[in-house]
Amino acid sequence: MERKGIKIIKGNVEEIIKELNKALSDEWLAYYQYWLGEKVVKGKFRDQAAKELGEHAADELKHAGMLADRIIQLGGTPVLKPEDWYKLTNCGYDAPENPEVIPVVKQNIKGEQCAIEVYQKLAEMLKDKDPISYYMVLSILKDEIEHEDDLINLLEDIQ
Ligand code: FE
Ligand code: FE
Ligand code: MG
Repeated sequence: MERKGIKIIKGNVEEIIKELNKALSDEWLAYYQYWLGEKVVKGKFRDQAAKELGEHAADELKHAGMLADRIIQLGGTPVLKPEDWYKLTNCGYDAPENPEVIPVVKQNIKGEQCAIEVYQKLAEMLKDKDPISYYMVLSILKDEIEHEDDLINLLEDIQ
């Protein structure tokens, strides 16, 4: 049966699904980067940093869930294969090759700044087209801004 919830969208639904899948790929890579960062981070302020990284990992996983649910609601398919995360990602993945607190935190700040840009652009694209995706993206953007703020504060505490 035709879905009114999809019919009210003024934009190109396929295009919206594509952008949401790109963001979903970003979120999985961000999740793993934080999840692994929490495990491997070492040195002075290790515990404080690990706690923050662990909290952010949980948030990124929550974002992935929100995006996947919305993609399905729009009639799309969430990216099916992890190998496609690398093809679709906007922000990429930064391996924590140097596990010292400062480089790990800096890598994640870079990731958050990329995420803020991506969600800001997505919000502009969705505004007046798809109010539900727009609302979701704003709520994710709010979290990413908090993440950036937390990590910059952490870095300033350390330095
Ligand atoms: Fe996120
Ligand atoms: Fe984040
Ligand atoms: Mg935090």
